[in-house]
Amino acid sequence: MKSWEQRERALLTLSKETGYVSKPHGNRLRVALAFPNTYWVGMSNLGFQTVYRLFNAQDDVVCERVFLPPKQELADLVKSRTPLVTLESQSPVGDFDVFAFSVSFEWDYVNVLTMLRLAGIPIHAAERTERHPLIVIGGAVTFVNPEPLALFADVIAAGEGEVLVPGLERAFAAASDRPGLLRALSQERGFYIPSFYDPQYAADGTLSGYTTSFPDAPLPVRKAALKTTDAVDPPVTSIFTPDTEFGSRFLVEVVRGCANLCRFCWAGYNYLPVRAFPADRILQLAEQARPFANRVGLVSIALCDHPEIDRILARLHEMGYGISPASLRLDDLTESIVSVLRASGEKTITIAPETGSDRLRRVINKTVTNDEILDRADLIFASGIENLKLYYMLGLPTETDDDLVAIRDLTLELRDRMMKYAKPRGAVGRIIGSVNPLIPKPGTAYQWLPMAADADVDRKIKRLRSLTADIDNVYFNIKSERHSYYQALLSLGDRRVAPVIAAAERNGQNWRAAVAETGVDADFFIFRDRSRDAVLPWDIIDGGMKASFFHTEFEKSLREEWTLPPKRAQENAKLLPVIS
Ligand code: SF4
Repeated sequence: MKSWEQRERALLTLSKETGYVSKPHGNRLRVALAFPNTYWVGMSNLGFQTVYRLFNAQDDVVCERVFLPPKQELADLVKSRTPLVTLESQSPVGDFDVFAFSVSFEWDYVNVLTMLRLAGIPIHAAERTERHPLIVIGGAVTFVNPEPLALFADVIAAGEGEVLVPGLERAFAAASDRPGLLRALSQERGFYIPSFYDPQYAADGTLSGYTTSFPDAPLPVRKAALKTTDAVDPPVTSIFTPDTEFGSRFLVEVVRGCANLCRFCWAGYNYLPVRAFPADRILQLAEQARPFANRVGLVSIALCDHPEIDRILARLHEMGYGISPASLRLDDLTESIVSVLRASGEKTITIAPETGSDRLRRVINKTVTNDEILDRADLIFASGIENLKLYYMLGLPTETDDDLVAIRDLTLELRDRMMKYAKPRGAVGRIIGSVNPLIPKPGTAYQWLPMAADADVDRKIKRLRSLTADIDNVYFNIKSERHSYYQALLSLGDRRVAPVIAAAERNGQNWRAAVAETGVDADFFIFRDRSRDAVLPWDIIDGGMKASFFHTEFEKSLREEWTLPPKRAQENAKLLPVIS
């Protein structure tokens, strides 16, 4: 591929966009902001769009986007050794001051390395010099467990963009060379400089701690998070393009965080406390975006924790928007919410019972019962919504065969509710069950647990497949355990996993071969009980939750006790004989 072809493609992409920012570089700080996946995927990512807006809101910064090229284009670029360029000015990424990645998924780690190579930048921080852009890796995954990426990053940005972007700017303004910049960054909240920390290992291979080469380097590094969102603009779509999954949608984050305290949920714990964005500003931005979008996508895990959610939804509906929530908690499904969704054209609602039995739901602290789920299903199907999507998990602590049967039974009962309303209408919908094996995640009450053994998960998958086969209007999609195995390695590993990522990047993501080639003991990271480990790899970032809280939650899990979210404590008291 020639440079001019790359330029032509970029110009064609820009010609279809509304809202991108083009600034002369001049003496500005130049930031190439990368999404390590395709344009199609990246442009629907609200975190990515928000960081772009935050950088460009500063007069002395110019931020341009860069994506993983599609397969054929990627192969052409590699073959012709054409350097990766940014979208806005088609400038080589290697010429920028900062090359910043927003990483949302473990599977994109390899793409970070591919993009570094395409830009002509060594993948390992230790091989780079001051001539290279500063490589910053941020995004949701990095404040859960950044360690597998530590050797590739000059800087890990852990936390929320609203706090991190000003910190990065301050450090650049204060420093005159790269060592000074790294030292200045280490003093800003949320910036972790991996090269300042030397991990120490015990004889059994577990992490025993870190020594630091810079005396002022904080240990641990505190995550950067907004104290309050009262006066902050909500993250919204700022660039519209038809070339993305949510092209015609105005995405907006209504409220950040979720206080339901499900014991497996890293997003719940890591985005605490719950913070609502100002309703008037949400509505004002929605009004401005109306000419470019006919649906609004509400990106929040606890939508209805916004104190003014009813007013927001009613006003969005008045503006003529269709309304699509990214996810809905079961306790969010009130009559008024369901009817607004139905009126705005939603045909499917997604809910997450997680499992089929009330007992196992008490174990994982999902504070709803089967009866409540069935009541909600009545509400959904009575409103005229036809389809239901269900998220379940496998391999939960204390799970038995009875719990698998309970998944089938709950699904059958939900199907009965669907049929009850569908038959008189003469239109029968579908129930789709999606099942994922539990990966015990860093920063949760299950962070010390080994993942369930492959053979065990495999047996349960087979059993559930046979239990749920051939049910009319019910379809199950059950993930294979091998897929989860390598994801678990990336999620639970430490720096010693880095060679596997590099090998997988070279070999076209053959993870099995990558593990074999590098000799990394993947089972050690995935199947070990970590409860006696002195330090966990992700303890390098202080996410705000105390280990003692997680220990207590884990013990309560085994006793099948709920920890009620504050707002449900009273209304659920009658259901909870086990709670003191
Ligand atoms: S309700 Fe959903 S988002 Fe909230 S903690 Fe539970 S699983 Fe996480």
